[in-house]
Amino acid sequence: MADPEFLRPGDAGYDRLRRVWNAMVDRRPALIARCRDVRDVAGAIARARREGLEIGVRCGGHSVLGLGVPDGGLMLDLTPMGGVRVDPERRLASVQGGALLGALDAATQPFGLATPAGNVSHTGVGGLTLGGGMGWLARRHGLSCDNVEAFELVTADGDVVRASAAENAELFWGLRGGGGNFGVVTEFRFRLHATGTRAVSVELDFPVAAAAAPLTRWRDLAAEAPRWATYTATVSGGVATLGFVWVGDPDAAREHARVLSALGRPLERRVQELSYLDLQRREDTPQGHAERRYWKGHYFQDLADGAIEALLAHDPSVDAGLQAYGGAIAEVPDEATAFSQRGTAFEYVGAARWTDPAEDASRIATARESAARLAPFASGVYVNVLGDEGAAGVRRAYPPAKLARLTALKDALDPGNVFHLNQNIPPSRVGALA
Ligand SMILES: Cc1cc2nc3c(=O)[nH]c(=O)nc-3n(C[C@H](O)[C@H](O)[C@H](O)COP(=O)(O)OP(=O)(O)OC[C@H]3O[C@@H](n4cnc5c(N)ncnc54)[C@H](O)[C@@H]3O)c2cc1C
Repeated sequence: MADPEFLRPGDAGYDRLRRVWNAMVDRRPALIARCRDVRDVAGAIARARREGLEIGVRCGGHSVLGLGVPDGGLMLDLTPMGGVRVDPERRLASVQGGALLGALDAATQPFGLATPAGNVSHTGVGGLTLGGGMGWLARRHGLSCDNVEAFELVTADGDVVRASAAENAELFWGLRGGGGNFGVVTEFRFRLHATGTRAVSVELDFPVAAAAAPLTRWRDLAAEAPRWATYTATVSGGVATLGFVWVGDPDAAREHARVLSALGRPLERRVQELSYLDLQRREDTPQGHAERRYWKGHYFQDLADGAIEALLAHDPSVDAGLQAYGGAIAEVPDEATAFSQRGTAFEYVGAARWTDPAEDASRIATARESAARLAPFASGVYVNVLGDEGAAGVRRAYPPAKLARLTALKDALDPGNVFHLNQNIPPSRVGALA
């Protein structure tokens, strides 16, 4: 155990570090611990417990609620632990607990390798992987969490523990989808795949008023798509953009793009060939920091015609997105990981962004109304897009049997709920959700 550098309000860097992706989050930790290694993490947890301070764990800072930043508590800032080591021969990457997706991709791509990760490079490996980790490679190689071979973490008691299929197997199960409930992960060991470095994005724009038929055909094509393709749809500002992202051979992508002629005549058609690294950074600016944010998510086992109607009836100020699941995600048995609902066909996120605080209430209400129209068709939600739904949201993310198993794991590792600033699975002493 070691003492990390601690910052207090007024110290240089304090305000930069407490700022996160969602500009609505404006909390002031009493202390920020700049953690450089596993010993610093243990030291920071010990101090927080000694002084009765609430703990927040900050990696990429992309929790939409800003859960990593505790008001008046101790924030474990993992960002100094951003390193990635690649072993190209064994196709493994050791990734520190505070690394961003951009660092992971930048380290693996020079070898033509990658592991599934999310679609915005300034997202944290920590939060994304512990909740699942959906991205352009997941239909081929599984979610990020499916590609973790081993975790190193510090528990609430300050113990340094490893979890893998061979060691602490139950914890290994829980860390793959159970979020930050069980400790602070200081290192992830990922399997890498020979993905190459090339990608293609295909997008067809339709006016929302005429998008019902194209979106219905897009849904049907998505069910038959090869695993290199991840079908995407967005509905925003009066335009429905339908298409797919392909990681791999660009000629094969162009060939597959021909099936989209079944969608009808678009307003505009864009086929863009780009490097995998550029694909991973493509949304960095639109999804940048400093805006106020609110979103709601759903999972769909299928996309009923009624859901398509509801999606197209969204307020134009809400950015609605669909991303197809299936392929390797669905092949992992549901009980193999805490991550749940692998039979999902599409993930939906309805997101609002704005800058004027005076608009907070109306923007949030509009995003909620849009998502509520889809709720009757939904089954569950991705834990990493949960926002302000509290315990009801956690119950939507995990079926009861999973919650019971997660609760038992929480009882064993963190019975005092030291790690509760997350999508919380409370120990039974606190009042289990299961
Ligand atoms: C712009 C944007 C794009 C996104 N794109 C995708 C995507 O493509 N695919 C996808 O699956 N998800 C995506 N997400 C959702 C994302 O997975 C979650 O927001 C996730 O929680 C972000 O993790 P973080 O480390 O950046 O966030 P943080 O706010 O730093 O962390 C969130 C929580 O994760 C836990 N945590 C983080 N690191 C650790 C650690 N090392 N040990 C223990 N607990 C930890 C803590 O409980 C913390 O409160 C996106 C989110 C945003 C804002």
